[in-house]
Amino acid sequence: NADAAMFRAKQDGRNNFRFFTPEMQTHSVRILQLSSALRHALARNQLQLQYQPQVSIRDGRIIGAEALLRWQHPEFGLVSPAEFIPLAENNGQIVQIGEWVLNTATRQLKEWMDQGLPPMVMAVNLSAAQFRQPNLVDRVTRILGEAGLAHQYLELELTEAVAMHDPLAAIKTMDELHACGIHMSIDDFGTGYSSLSYFKRFKVYKLKIDQSFVRDITRDPDDKAIVTAIINLARSLGIRTIAEGVETSEQLAYLRQVGCDEVQGYYFSEPLPAESFAAYLKEQK
Ligand code: C2E
Ligand code: MG
Ligand code: MG
Ligand code: MG
Repeated sequence: NADAAMFRAKQDGRNNFRFFTPEMQTHSVRILQLSSALRHALARNQLQLQYQPQVSIRDGRIIGAEALLRWQHPEFGLVSPAEFIPLAENNGQIVQIGEWVLNTATRQLKEWMDQGLPPMVMAVNLSAAQFRQPNLVDRVTRILGEAGLAHQYLELELTEAVAMHDPLAAIKTMDELHACGIHMSIDDFGTGYSSLSYFKRFKVYKLKIDQSFVRDITRDPDDKAIVTAIINLARSLGIRTIAEGVETSEQLAYLRQVGCDEVQGYYFSEPLPAESFAAYLKEQK
């Protein structure tokens, strides 16, 4: 009997090794194709930014925008950043793409402010590789200088997972950014195994409560408890909070009740192309 089981296990093992299913093949072919097409995306003008409003929960004012990257490819269509950012991380392109994002987003905000639109903060996502660059602070301040934008109008979003991957390095970089007046927020907070002893040393301006906790906040007592705990933690450390993925007025009411500062989500607006975002801002004004 034991022999028979061993034999089956060996067979299974061999089968697992031998067969490469058609789905697996299609999947890796797509990765290779996307990865190579991505090399031309910038030069061919296929990358675009969309902007999603960040709203103050107290008075409903738009106080910021998050820049979100879009890749429109003639053959693959609209490719999600969740799919292509990891590829760009792997092939090293992310630094160049990230620099383009920073340039475009800061210039866009400057243009809106020059047009007389109300001042707000532009939030830009930073990748792991960008955050690790030794000259990150110089690069960012140079870009701000070239755009003619004061440091206080930029906020850099770093995921909790990236910050915690090398907390001592993160503390150092955050200190440097803080020293030149650039705000940092921790993205997808609650999903990244934060160590509180490091966390308290992070110069963080804002915590972004991950949308996975917001989704069922009105129904799931555990999610309610987690969100309340995050907000209380942030408050007692003097850090602002923003909830991501707010889609309903019920979620908004609950977040207001537990003292969240800001909200972002489809309930207010999906990410919008620059012209539509400007129109949305004008409407609010
Ligand atoms: P993220 O930074 O956490 O961005 C929030 C994501 O939630 C965005 O997805 C946004 O479109 C989506 N979202 C906003 N409101 C709602 C809502 O009410 N409901 C739901 N279900 N989703 C909502 P998106 O644009 O697909 O971006 C996915 C991720 O890709 C981002 O997550 C970020 O990690 C990454 N990413 C996007 N742009 C950039 C970039 O320029 N640089 C880097 N390094 N990463 C980026
Ligand atoms: Mg983000
Ligand atoms: Mg997020
Ligand atoms: Mg995310």
